[in-house]
Amino acid sequence: MKSDSGTVTHRTIKNYNRNKILNLLLVKRELTKQNISILTGISFPTVTNNIKELINEGLVEEAGMASSTGGRKPQIIRFLPDARYSFGVDLSLEKARVVLINLDSKIKHDESFSIKQFTNMDGVIQKIASIVDEVLVNYSIPKERVLGIGFSLPGTVNEKKMMLELAPNLGVKNISFSKFQEILKFPLYIENEANAAAIAELNTDSTKKYHNLVYISITYGVGTGIVIHGHLYRGKNRRAGEFGHMTVVKDGKQCNCGRLGCWELYASDRVLLEDYEKETGQKAESLDDFFRILKEDNPEAQAVWHNYLDFLALGIQNIILALDPHCIIIGGEISNFHNIWMEELKEKVFVKNSFYKQKDLELLPSRLGKDSSIIGAALLPVLKLFS
Ligand SMILES: [Zn+2]
Repeated sequence: MKSDSGTVTHRTIKNYNRNKILNLLLVKRELTKQNISILTGISFPTVTNNIKELINEGLVEEAGMASSTGGRKPQIIRFLPDARYSFGVDLSLEKARVVLINLDSKIKHDESFSIKQFTNMDGVIQKIASIVDEVLVNYSIPKERVLGIGFSLPGTVNEKKMMLELAPNLGVKNISFSKFQEILKFPLYIENEANAAAIAELNTDSTKKYHNLVYISITYGVGTGIVIHGHLYRGKNRRAGEFGHMTVVKDGKQCNCGRLGCWELYASDRVLLEDYEKETGQKAESLDDFFRILKEDNPEAQAVWHNYLDFLALGIQNIILALDPHCIIIGGEISNFHNIWMEELKEKVFVKNSFYKQKDLELLPSRLGKDSSIIGAALLPVLKLFS
């Protein structure tokens, strides 16, 4: 561990030890100090000092004695998942969703409200502030135990400048979130929604199997979050992963971004429902509704579906060729129905080609479904505590 000046400082070593112990306890839940010392390779006196501090911070507690193999019985140290909380906010078309999570990424509170216009962002933030206040009162959570509020935003996000630079589907650009700090009164974090989802998938996977992954967020639009060696790849101008706007049809449909034939105009869930209505004159109210109709062997629904899946596969093939990841995760509400489509999608993606075979990478549905981006947003303040 090195400081900015390049020298190893006492503080960086201290933080490194503390975080190693805390991360271990997060996974193992209960351990004796002896076992913590063995598993981390940190000396017993240093473990004891760190545990003392973590107890003072309220993050762990002493939880009785373990059985002894001789001599004094060792004290068990237990991790406290409700020691801190964090809020996640997801702003999507026509809706804001607010959740409260604990240190286990478990959703404790979940509520949404509709939004007519994002041009009145101050009003949206005021409403979120009142929800946050109400939740803290209702759950009797003192403000000191709240780590912050993370926002998942559908557009180009500059998290350093705290700026939503462009969100074509919300019809807004250059919205500064630093000024909202005053209204929300907690540390604020912002992230692109597909990036946030990728963060959630990466950090809630206890196996930590995939260090190189691409998360494809299929919602009103299509966004992707790219993780390389366990870190988000944002790109120089923070526009990396805009695969939703790669051209899949030359001179195709007009996109909100100003270009023609973008992938999201052929692979978003909105388009699936719109195409079904265009082809049949019937309306599927939701994905649930659409997949119910599909199951009834409705030939028109089948045709719309196969066309949709062809385009979804085409974009995935391009991503595989561009990034060669260990794993591609497909998220958004459509992932809830993966039992219906995953095998068929794989057949379309892994058609015979000179570059890749099915065994070269995993194509998986999101484990967190529609919660991935909001949990990722709420995790932004939590990750600060653990790193
Ligand atoms: Zn576009």
